[in-house]
Amino acid sequence: MPQLIAGNWKMHMLRAEAVALAQALRTGAAGGAAELLVCPPFTVLAAVAEALAGSAVAVGGQDCHQDKQGAHTGDVSAPMLRDAGASWVILGHSERRLNHGETSELVREKTVAAVAAGLTPIVCVGETADQRAGGGEAEAVGWQLSGSLPQGFADGPGGVLAYEPVWAIGTGKTPTEDEVADMHAFIRAELVRQFGDAGAQVRILYGGSVKPANAGALLALPEVGGALIGGASLTAADFLAIAGAAARG
Ligand code: PEP
Repeated sequence: MPQLIAGNWKMHMLRAEAVALAQALRTGAAGGAAELLVCPPFTVLAAVAEALAGSAVAVGGQDCHQDKQGAHTGDVSAPMLRDAGASWVILGHSERRLNHGETSELVREKTVAAVAAGLTPIVCVGETADQRAGGGEAEAVGWQLSGSLPQGFADGPGGVLAYEPVWAIGTGKTPTEDEVADMHAFIRAELVRQFGDAGAQVRILYGGSVKPANAGALLALPEVGGALIGGASLTAADFLAIAGAAARG
């Protein structure tokens, strides 16, 4: 399976910048070996999906509500994402878990809703700095894994898991290569424990301060099935350089 290079644009980009970035990616992405995905803000998702239609770059949302529709002011459902042109969705990002109080149980409900709407979920897990300092990183990630992933997560085309240490996101800090490899091996074992043979097929992305300079080393580590990228996904040159590293990884 190709490595997946996914860009999380977070709360960046007005329409003109978003479409310009999408067009640059459309041109630059052709022929690469990695699978590419961008997750723009809701407001520009449809415009980005239109700009990338028929290209090598897929489009996803950054979150969705667990219900299909209803009285949920400000929320967006999984079928709405699909309708706007998304085929993927990021769920349980630490910025949602920490800033919006999302529990693993809620992430699991959202994951069920995403799959039901035909979206491929990327479920994020990762320890805080305090948890790692106290040696509790595996326990923290283990709880998130058992709480966030619904039955059937690994079936069929299957969901994707993203390991993103909270302290590495947007900080320029990354775990050592051994730390990334150890955590990915732990996550693989947990996925196989939860889902049997299908758990061996789930791609496990690394996320947290991935840049063109460190992407090659990170993407070459065992059990790293791609990367989830924040800051470096906001410029076509950086995102495509990381995608190029994946192709060689
Ligand atoms: C992220 O928020 O998912 C992320 C990995 O951000 P950054 O690459 O900026 O650390």
